[in-house]
Order: sequence, then structure tokens, then C-alpha cells
Amino acid sequence: MNNKYKGSTVSSGIAIGPARVIRKSEPGNAAPVAMMSEPDRVEAELVRLEQAIEATKIHMDKMVLDAGVKAGKDAAQIFLMHKLVLDGKEFRNLSRICIEDGQMDAEEAVRQTSEALASKFDEMEDEYMRARADDVRDIAREVIIALHEGIDGSDDPQKEYPHILLTRSILPGEVMELDQDNVLAIVTVEGSTTSHAAVLAHMMDIPMIVSVPIDLDAIEDGTPIYVNADVGEVIVSPDVDFIEQAHRSSDPVRSALLGLKGCETVTITGRHIDLYANISSVVDMKKAMENDAEGIGLYRSEFMYMERLEAPSEDEQFAVYKKLLNMYKDKVLTVRTMDLGGDKLTPYVDPEGKRGLSVSLAHPDIFRVQLRALVRASVYGQLRIMYPYVTNAEEVVKANSLFAEVKWALLSEVGSVSIPQGIMVETVDAVENIDALIPHADFISIGTNDLTCDIYGVDRFSAVEGAIKDDYENLFAMIGRVVYKAHNAGLSVCVCGEIASRREYTSRLLDTDVDCLSVAPAEILLMRDHIINNCR
Ligand code: PEP
Ligand code: MG
Repeated sequence: MNNKYKGSTVSSGIAIGPARVIRKSEPGNAAPVAMMSEPDRVEAELVRLEQAIEATKIHMDKMVLDAGVKAGKDAAQIFLMHKLVLDGKEFRNLSRICIEDGQMDAEEAVRQTSEALASKFDEMEDEYMRARADDVRDIAREVIIALHEGIDGSDDPQKEYPHILLTRSILPGEVMELDQDNVLAIVTVEGSTTSHAAVLAHMMDIPMIVSVPIDLDAIEDGTPIYVNADVGEVIVSPDVDFIEQAHRSSDPVRSALLGLKGCETVTITGRHIDLYANISSVVDMKKAMENDAEGIGLYRSEFMYMERLEAPSEDEQFAVYKKLLNMYKDKVLTVRTMDLGGDKLTPYVDPEGKRGLSVSLAHPDIFRVQLRALVRASVYGQLRIMYPYVTNAEEVVKANSLFAEVKWALLSEVGSVSIPQGIMVETVDAVENIDALIPHADFISIGTNDLTCDIYGVDRFSAVEGAIKDDYENLFAMIGRVVYKAHNAGLSVCVCGEIASRREYTSRLLDTDVDCLSVAPAEILLMRDHIINNCR
């Protein structure tokens, strides 16, 4: 019998443990529609629906907080979006129509509504949009739990033992509710690597593989499962020798990786690479430290500005920057000044279609507060700042003079501070204007996520892969051009987009002569191992 399966890796790692299979009912197997006889039952169901939606909104507020603590601001954003769906009219009105016109009970109305909304997403071409169907189903699941007053198996005793979770699909809320100490890995039959559930599992560092064509009905709870998410492999009931061997070899693999802590990241030919981490929160900073990042190449400060009604105060920001600098005292912390616009919106800043540095310059009062907090915090460690999404030299000159003005105003308070100031090259305009930009920067960071979108004409939500017809030739050529010019001027260059984490591209990236890669905290040791053993 075939017991080996392949799937797509969401987050890497190796685990062996007993199966815990979640047997969800298939779509279409739902309980028969409850027909109602008396008209006042309709009114009662409408009241139940409204109460459940309100209770779910309160629960979502808690999920936003939980997600923020467990997995950072990006994760919190997912549940904030769920709450927005419940605040909106479509979900509520469609459910009401199902109750009023379809004679359904509230549970069935919510089920039907979510399937109707989710199937619209299911049919979409774009992989990212298709993955949004699961978000709708997750919202419905929460409302149905609220209709049942929370008795839906939340005290499952099986959660108590370490296990490999096998399921047809998993929703973001279900990932958040997982007992992180006991879930060794997640394997799903369906699902995409861009679903919010996948994003959460990655941020929570749980090994996960999706799209594994496994027959869940054939697997009993407790069946031994081996998951190697580094290569996207699942083995059901591996034989005893294999288990022993895997136990023996997975520990050395992990301990070999852990043994790389404190080692220099250096290629086979002896070239040193700075291996930095990208972070968005204090939680991420802890992970970066645990994984021995050599510095922080990108702190996405704009997440501090989002999900709130007014901008963070100078003291609030100062406290965060000071904390981060104190946590990783002898290492570089690169704070990207607020990158608002695009999909990063706040109620108090209208980006007017702009993005990044130009938005900050259009709101000097808010920008000045951030620069003041940064200058005050800089005395606690090795702070660098960088401006996002720059397009031309004029805006960098303006930002630098505002920064100089702020430093001058704080001279008597903090003394003379030296804070390297860099630019993010993440637009084709910036690449084209690189000669004019270089004299105004101390270092360069290349944001390949946005640069890729700009070069290949896609937006941040599309599955980019389909639009890349040249295997990133154009992107690497632009990176090479920027590095060449920067080095001639004595500036170092870091790459901080997702491509820096993808080991299949590392050699090509290093061929462009970049000095530094900044990657997700969980990728640091894997990348160090890869560079030391495979890159020249
Ligand atoms: C990038 O664009 O590559 C980048 C690192 O910035 P962000 O992903 O935050 O836009
Ligand atoms: Mg960017």
C-alpha cells in the first residue's frame, strides 16, 4: 500500500507523532433543512441569529487580541477582517432572507449563506481570492458555535496529547484555537499556501503541508505519521525501522541546525553574508533572537499605526523602539518608517492613492512624531531607519531634512546621534532613478515583494507566480544593477522581500553580489545552513 504522500509546504519542520484526524462533514452532508411550522418561530430564529452575530463579534475582538499576542499584527488583521464581514450587511441580510423566505433555522441559514458567499470565491481564478472562501466558512463556523452557546467540542480531551493534526481543510479561527504545545504538525487534504490559515500556521512556526492527497477515512487516530515539511512529504504508518531512523536522524538534523547558532554565515568560497530577520512585532523579535538572526533588516513599523483610530503617540512609539533595541542590544535594528497606502490603511491618514514615503511627507505632523520617537530611542542600541517605497531623490531630500530638523530639535535632550538612513528600492522608478538616489542614502534595502509586482504588473493579492514568465530574469537584472551602483558608491545592499527566504533562488541572489539577506525568523538557521553548504 502506498503510504507516502507529497503536498505543498506552508511552513517547514519535521515531526513524528500519532495522528489526530478531524472528521468534518463534507459539504452537502449537512443536516436536513429544518422546516418551520409556526410563523413566530421565524421571529425567534431572527432573534437567535442577531444574538449569535453580536456574540461572535465580541468573540472576534478577543481573537484579534489573541492572534496579535500569539502571531503578531498580520495575524490580528485576519480576525479584524472577519469582524468587518459581520459588521457589514451582506452576511446578515442573506442569513435573514434564508430564515424569512427559506423557512430555515438560524444554523442552516448561516450555513447556506456562507456556502453561497464562499462558492463565489471558490470559482475565482485567482488563488488568493479562492483562499478567501475559507475565511467566510470560518466566520460561519464561529456564528454557529455561538448559536450552540459554545458547546461545540471545545473541551476535546484529545487536544491533550502531542499529535499530528490531519484534516480535510482548516480555517484561520481553528488554527488560532490550536493547542500550540501539542500540535506537532498540520496536514490538510485541501487548501492553498496563501490561505490565511496557512499564513497563521507559518507565523506560529507549526510545520504544515497542504494539498496532500491522503484518504482520511483510512487513517485511525493514533496511527503513526511522519511529516517532513522541509520537502513536503507525509508518511503514514512508517515502519518501525524508519521511525527509529527518523527519530535518530531528525534530532541530529535539528540539532545540527541549532549547532549553527553563533556561527558566521559564510559561503563555500569564504564570502560573508549578513543574515538578518524581518519582524513586525515584539513577538517576532523574540523568534529572531531564538533563531540567532544577525540583526533586524526590516521592522515593519506601520503595523503599530493600523487597527486604531489615531496615530500612536511619540511616547508609545518610543517605548516600543526602546524595547526592541534593548532586547537585541548589540545587533542592528532597521526600522522602516511607516509604510502607509496600498493595502495598509488607517482611518486617520488618507493616502490619496500614494504609498510609502510620499504619504509620510504629505502628513508631516504624524511623520515628525515617528522620527522624534526614533531619535530618542536611538541611544539604546544600533538603530538604522529606512524610507519605504521611494520613487525619486526629491522626496528623500525632503525626508532627510525633516529628519535633520528633528535631530537638531532633540540635540539638548539626546546629544548628537548617528543614525544611518537608508532607502527601500521597491519600485521600478527607484531603480531607474538609482544614480540620483544613492547620494542621499547610507544603505539600500531592496523590497522584492513590491518590486516584483511593479516589474511584472501584478498586485500584492494575486498569485504572482503565474505572471512571471522569465523566471525572475528581469528582477535579478534590476537587483544586480542597483548593487553594482551602490557598491561603487560604498553602500551596502540588503534584500528583504520574500525571495530572500527562498533557498532555490539564494545562489542567483548572491550572484548579484548583495551583502545581506533579511528573512522570516524561522528561516534563519535553514538559510545559514544552505549558504554555508551550497552557495559560492
Ligand atoms: C517588499 O516589498 O519586499 C517588502 C519587504 O515590503 P513589504 O512586503 O512590507 O511591502
Ligand atoms: Mg514593500
